[in-house]
Amino acid sequence: LPSKLPYVGTTIFTVMSKLATDEGAYNLSQGFPSFDCSPKLSELVCHYLKNGYNQYAPMSGAPVFRESIAEKTADVYGISYNPETEVTVTSGATEAIFCAVTAVVYPGDEVIVLEPAYDSYVPAIDLNGGVPVFVTLDAPDFKIDWEKVKAKISPKTKAILINTPHNPVGTVFSKEDLDCLAEIIRGKDIYIISDEVYEHIVFDGEVHHSMMTHPELKERSFICNSVGKTYHVTGWKIGYCLAPAALTKEFRRIHQYITFCTVSPMQFALADFLKLPEHYEALSDFYQRKRDRFNEALKASRFTFKPSKGSFFQIVSYEKITDEYDYDLAIRLTKEIKVASVPVSVFYKDKKDDKLLRFCFAKDDDILDKAAELLCKL
Ligand code: PMP
Ligand code: GLN
Repeated sequence: LPSKLPYVGTTIFTVMSKLATDEGAYNLSQGFPSFDCSPKLSELVCHYLKNGYNQYAPMSGAPVFRESIAEKTADVYGISYNPETEVTVTSGATEAIFCAVTAVVYPGDEVIVLEPAYDSYVPAIDLNGGVPVFVTLDAPDFKIDWEKVKAKISPKTKAILINTPHNPVGTVFSKEDLDCLAEIIRGKDIYIISDEVYEHIVFDGEVHHSMMTHPELKERSFICNSVGKTYHVTGWKIGYCLAPAALTKEFRRIHQYITFCTVSPMQFALADFLKLPEHYEALSDFYQRKRDRFNEALKASRFTFKPSKGSFFQIVSYEKITDEYDYDLAIRLTKEIKVASVPVSVFYKDKKDDKLLRFCFAKDDDILDKAAELLCKL
């Protein structure tokens, strides 16, 4: 069969996690916690499972869950979204991003993508006939050069895809970044699709600046989120999109024919659990300790790195160790050293190889210790 995505194989996350399992390696590749969610959250799910919440949820999400999302958003950012018309529950952030791209991108439209980029963005653009236009975030700081972004804006630019905190490099947008973005799109018909799934994982006193906190940006933004990272439930694939009513209307028109609705009992459980801020308020400290533990141990290795500012990923350079292609090295390390990682070249459409690997530190301390010890042998 001819392919609409001829340049992709199986995603790196599937490849590396399978290899890690086959090889009995420590899996620091795919981004998921090695530990479980709060027992209180699983008890809530059991409660709703046993009490008749097992049929289709409403298309846009269970009303109590949408209300709870809107309340939490107002508590965290002081910004209000109408749960009736501006909040939509999706099957993961992946679906939210796909629906948002589909809502605005017509064949031939250009979409600005900051590379390295999470691997679902470019296929979503391509499947809609859009044209990804790349701007690179360069090592070692991976900051956004807004002049470069500005230079890529054309009459065909329809949207810009943003990810803060950033997977894989951990960049966190500053307030100035938001101002620059607003200035660049002012007066233009450009939408923002903002992936903020790591909103509660920022380090060293950094603050997550959501697109919604800038009034001009809020008006044009589809803010895509996920409960997977915040509540240690990546396997639930529950996300949501916050967007002004006119944008949400088109978003839902598409969402209803992609998945229609999202798994029901979990939505009710989350509606209750989102009301407890303790969990997400403790998350940055929790992950900062893990980042520091892993990085401290890695200091004895020949890898070099700057500490991640957000997300649960650490990028490291292996320039001083070998000049192998990053993909080959990631495979070799999984087989020989028994530590799995993700090669950063997969986050570039042209597979740019900057000799970087990504390690996920959302893992139990003993796994991090053991993995770092093995990496120090290189
Ligand atoms: N965006 C980013 C930056 C991610 O790292 C991930 C992976 N979890 C997703 C989106 C997808 O989220 P979900 O699993 O909720 O679809
Ligand atoms: N977001 C996760 C990561 O970056 C993986 C998600 C997936 O497996 N598709 O590792």
